[in-house]
Amino acid sequence: MIYVVGIGPGGYDGLTGEALEALKTCEVISGYKRYVELVKDFFPEKFFMSYPMRSEVARCEEALKVAEMGYSVALISSGDAGVYGMAGIMLEVAKGLADIKIIPGVTAANSAAAVLGAPLMNDYVTISLSDLMTDWEIIEKRLRTACNGDFVICLYNPASHHRPDSFKRACDIMLRYKPPETVCGYVRNINRPGQESKLMTLDEIRDCEEIDMLTTVIIGNSQTYALDGKMITRRGYEKAVRSEEVGGRNEEL
Ligand code: SAH
Repeated sequence: MIYVVGIGPGGYDGLTGEALEALKTCEVISGYKRYVELVKDFFPEKFFMSYPMRSEVARCEEALKVAEMGYSVALISSGDAGVYGMAGIMLEVAKGLADIKIIPGVTAANSAAAVLGAPLMNDYVTISLSDLMTDWEIIEKRLRTACNGDFVICLYNPASHHRPDSFKRACDIMLRYKPPETVCGYVRNINRPGQESKLMTLDEIRDCEEIDMLTTVIIGNSQTYALDGKMITRRGYEKAVRSEEVGGRNEEL
């Protein structure tokens, strides 16, 4: 059996009950070394396989071999394994030959939103700024499309040493569609030692030096505002109340 487990944003606290159960049940825990370090102390009796970055296919092939030898393996991803994580590649590598169970986790967008307030109260998108597997032109197109739709935008992989300007470039595109005072926020190291977060405007966050690979950024839409240091996106209750008053529908609130 191979469990593909999203371990949430940080340590033990961020694990769902189901993820915890899978990690307790399995014999081998496998994953990127930074994530293995996050869970290692809590499961000292397990056998660990830790890997450097960009060894995703090898991780899956070896998990498959270990499972074929009769051991149960938990292949871990941070956040949710199905969001820029290991779930898809594991299913592709296994080609139906192994029993695979995907265990969902709390993705960075949701945990960042909770730290910042309630910015995801209406429709939102996630966009990764990593051009390792997606061409930059496509990323730009998605940013423009999300701005056109007035979505709240969660940015994953916002900047790295290899592409220090990608976040600024993304902000410059969004500044063509959104006012500079648009409320935004970032959270760095969510649920990990050194967690930090800040609310800013779009033109301020463009030049923020703290944005890196350990950061998730949330860019508000036209309904997002700051209240008592929290970021809130209006869902539209005023409209729902007005519509109720004139005898209209009332969706679940
Ligand atoms: N599968 C993960 C995402 C992996 S992509 C998930 O569902 O959350 C890696 C990106 O996720 C990082 O560059 C960052 O933007 C975001 N991220 C993941 N964990 C984070 C954390 N603890 N704090 C801040 N951002 C995080």
